Amino acid sequence: MRTLGLLGGMAWPSTAEAYRAINLGVAARLGGTHSAPLLVWSADFAEVEQLQRAGAWEEAGALLADAAQRLEAAGAEGLMLCSNTMHRVAEAIEAAVAVPLLHLADATAEAVRADGRTRVGLLGTRFTMEESFYRGRLADHGLEILVPDAPDRDVVHRVIYQELVQGRTTSRSREEYLRIISRLLERGAQGGIAGCTEIELLITADDLPVAYYPTTALHAAAAVAWILEDGPGEGEAP
Ligand code: GLU
Repeated sequence: MRTLGLLGGMAWPSTAEAYRAINLGVAARLGGTHSAPLLVWSADFAEVEQLQRAGAWEEAGALLADAAQRLEAAGAEGLMLCSNTMHRVAEAIEAAVAVPLLHLADATAEAVRADGRTRVGLLGTRFTMEESFYRGRLADHGLEILVPDAPDRDVVHRVIYQELVQGRTTSRSREEYLRIISRLLERGAQGGIAGCTEIELLITADDLPVAYYPTTALHAAAAVAWILEDGPGEGEAP
């Protein structure tokens, strides 16, 4: 098996889920007492959030590039960044190390395409919903992305930072998210991407009448394939 380094803590609730899902995936494939060879670096999310707020992406990139180098030096043969938003600095990370970064948007887009869908709704932080680093990467796979209108984007963003990254879920926020997703479906979305790694702690596939693409689970599945060296196109550019 190959050793994977996790750039985590952005925030910790979803990294815990990714760690669990990857181990379960390897155990399901190999059986017995098998588990995944992993190295985890976990941020103080307050530091990362401050850099995001300030738009200090270069500094954020340097922070994660340094963490990536530490993971590589400790023996990681590949890296996984456990946050959609922080893929904003994926290039800085990739430039700092020789090992591949398993890009979250690629794993997500491949799952959508495998289902034969091309038009999907995207919920995530304001950065993920509004900037090109993530939407553009999905579009490179031939996907058409719908995002909520501005007031609803505010709701989605606020719930992520005030609740989900702190490990809190509320039924009020669940209802709000379902309302926002149903609007995207009315506009023609064929499914919904949970484009923030904590959203699937709030909304599960059972909550939705349509195809659901939870990014932590999809990324973890891609990680398992890569660790076991059996994934189609593992870590390749689109
Ligand atoms: N985990 C979230 C994401 O996937 C948000 C936290 C962050 O800004 O990194 O985008």
